[in-house]
Amino acid sequence: MPSAGWGCPHEVNGRCSKINDLPCDPGMKGCQLFGRYVFFDDSKNARLREKQAREHQQNTVKQEKSEE
Ligand code: SF4
Repeated sequence: MPSAGWGCPHEVNGRCSKINDLPCDPGMKGCQLFGRYVFFDDSKNARLREKQAREHQQNTVKQEKSEE
């Protein structure tokens, strides 16, 4: 997918050399952006939400321990 200002090093002629030469679809599973950014297509945000929930849970546990 052509993009302005940023070029993915894995993209070659609109295909992803990282994921079996599939058509580039930023944020799809396996993409280097997967789980790192929020996408308009919410189906691509599951990994990020899992990460955030885990971090939130860890921070809550740390806070609870420090309050003891
Ligand atoms: S799918 Fe992701 S990793 Fe692959 S070429 Fe596109 S932006 Fe890069």
